[in-house]
Amino acid sequence: MGSIKQNILDIEKDLVGTACRLIIVTKTKPIEKVFELYHLGYRAFGENRVQELILKHEALPKDIEWHLIGHLQTNKVKSIASFVSLIHSVESFRLLEEINKQAIKNNRIIPCLLQIYIAKEETKFGLSQEEALEILNSSQLSELKNISITGLMGMATNTENRETIRKEFISLKKFFESIKTIKKPNVDIKELSMGMSSDYGVAVEEGSSMIRVGSAIFR
Ligand SMILES: *Cc1c(COP(=O)(O)O)cnc(C)c1O
Repeated sequence: MGSIKQNILDIEKDLVGTACRLIIVTKTKPIEKVFELYHLGYRAFGENRVQELILKHEALPKDIEWHLIGHLQTNKVKSIASFVSLIHSVESFRLLEEINKQAIKNNRIIPCLLQIYIAKEETKFGLSQEEALEILNSSQLSELKNISITGLMGMATNTENRETIRKEFISLKKFFESIKTIKKPNVDIKELSMGMSSDYGVAVEEGSSMIRVGSAIFR
């Protein structure tokens, strides 16, 4: 655990003086490991699979903030709606409708980020900026009173080329700034979730408010 703690402290050093938070990505890590992190004082964890998220939520203390960072199928929303802190990976209006429906059943408001496609790879999920604007500007969005769109998430191209990564983060940050002016009861743009183990340094420099880091911590 010593080196894991040191890895986290090293990352946190890079966040000093910024408003950026670390979300520790615990996917594929056993419950005991997450519990050790809990005992070190960490409370914000990210998972990319719903099944794993549910198991860990059930097994661990209830004051943990659980972030869903991976693809979410409509039929799985029901199983996480009671406890998920933030869904980083919303990719359609239909998914927002379902999150809203399940949030109503749980008598809560579920914060969501729109995942924006910024990478040059076919494999990356997400909305284009145009599609995101369509959702943000649609009149039906106002009817979804139990969701709150609090920002954007994006994943850069998996490349060694820092300049490609930087350009992608800059374009996402620019889009983020441009939609901050949208005034709707359920839109409050403040979070920019960008940066993972290989590129969080660039992401922080370009204005990330949340980095999602796994392998750099557990290596
Ligand atoms: C796995 C994952 C991360 C963390 O990746 P690392 O390279 O392990 O830091 C961040 N975001 C998403 C969406 C992920 O699936």
